[in-house]
Amino acid sequence: MVSEIDFDAARIYAVPLRTRFRDITVREGILIEGPAGWSEFCPFLEYDDLESACWLATAVEQCTQGWPKPLRDRVPINCIVPAVGERRAREIVAGSGCHTAKVKVADHPESLSEDLARVEAVRDALGPGGAIRVDANGVWDVETAVDHIRQLDKAAGGLEYVEQPCGTIEELAAVRRQVEVRVAADESIRRADDPLRVAVAGAADVAVIKCTPLGGVRRSLRIAEAAGLPCVVSSALETSVGLAAQVALAGALPELDFACGLGTLSLLDGDVVADAASLRPVDGYLLVPRTPPTPDLALLDTYQLTDPRQAAWWRNRLARVRGLLRAKDVTPW
Ligand SMILES: [Mg+2]
Repeated sequence: MVSEIDFDAARIYAVPLRTRFRDITVREGILIEGPAGWSEFCPFLEYDDLESACWLATAVEQCTQGWPKPLRDRVPINCIVPAVGERRAREIVAGSGCHTAKVKVADHPESLSEDLARVEAVRDALGPGGAIRVDANGVWDVETAVDHIRQLDKAAGGLEYVEQPCGTIEELAAVRRQVEVRVAADESIRRADDPLRVAVAGAADVAVIKCTPLGGVRRSLRIAEAAGLPCVVSSALETSVGLAAQVALAGALPELDFACGLGTLSLLDGDVVADAASLRPVDGYLLVPRTPPTPDLALLDTYQLTDPRQAAWWRNRLARVRGLLRAKDVTPW
């Protein structure tokens, strides 16, 4: 199947971000065409080749086989409220059309009063029927997490869950024993050698999964089943081409109890597919694609990565990671 892909025809893109994210201002990656359509290979620049092999496996699955049949036509999406002031937080929620908001907290060590004001503003904009989740990206210790989660839960008029309050699986389990609010594992799943350890340790009520780093939709479905936890699908900051696989995963999960973190195209200042095919949520939902989106040729030209040294770096990376797929049998489906 990999032999059916013309890797030499792959297109390298560079799409600027609207605001800095993970210390980058431009999202780069490679678009690959295969017999089942286009796919995207976009591991972050600092990822090593072995980690990147899973990202390539996801791309190869998409462009050679497509995805399993979806079980739903559309997927609810949460809006993202970064560490902004109350007024901006209200604007983001009101403008999103989403019924679930994910609010960044613990942005700096003294952030609690700002965090409380932000979740209050979000509740105000969302109304009593909406759901609020917070994400601490693993920075609290157990004691701080327990204290802040209780205060945030009160300020929010009830939190849906708290995402990655602490860094380690053991800490997550300790927090979970002490708070009423559900705990979701994100980084603990993404970075673990064994994503199932989170479930085994009783460390989370919800698993945040991303098929792009997990090696494809089929493999992610197996991991979700083995974990036995409700899943939320979240993006890896792809263009619409790669994001489509994440939406396909959300569409194929047997149960989907929570809104997904797939409204991330708004973080990019452009896309490689035409507007009509762009995976931007409408009224808080994304339609589940049946086939991979096709890039628009003019947009591929617009967003082509022009720096020749960086383009060579990507081609070398792709060649090395392809070698790994062949040699180490990390094609996981
Ligand atoms: Mg997270």
